Amino acid sequence: MTEDGKPDETVRNDNPTARGFKCRCCGACCRIKNGIVRVSSAEIARIAAYLGASEDDFIERETEIAPDRKSLVLKSRPDGACVYLKADNLCRINPVKPGKCRTFPFEWTNPDSKNVCPAISLL
Ligand code: SF4
Ligand code: SF4
Repeated sequence: MTEDGKPDETVRNDNPTARGFKCRCCGACCRIKNGIVRVSSAEIARIAAYLGASEDDFIERETEIAPDRKSLVLKSRPDGACVYLKADNLCRINPVKPGKCRTFPFEWTNPDSKNVCPAISLL
């Protein structure tokens, strides 16, 4: 999360330690204001197949160009939540969600992760 409104990109953590981590399924990491979730070509293919859509339709409907124009990212809703976040705080594409989502907040993290994720403080 950034206070100056710049896109917030999580980065690979140099010291991942997921042992004992239990996600509380609160969905907070899917609502990070200005957060972005890049999707690789392989991830696009997997998500589109899971949704029963063509890759072109998926790209057109559910992705946009990253602020740095280097990749595609998942779209966000006007309130900043990811388009795949459900009302019950679970992910609509959970079995095929991008690697960044699967490995937050350890392999992927940012300086604000401790404030975003309530489960980190329980370790
Ligand atoms: S794809 Fe799923 S896990 Fe990733 S940000 Fe969106 S709702 Fe959250
Ligand atoms: S913020 Fe942490 S506890 Fe909440 S859904 Fe994300 S990983 Fe799980």
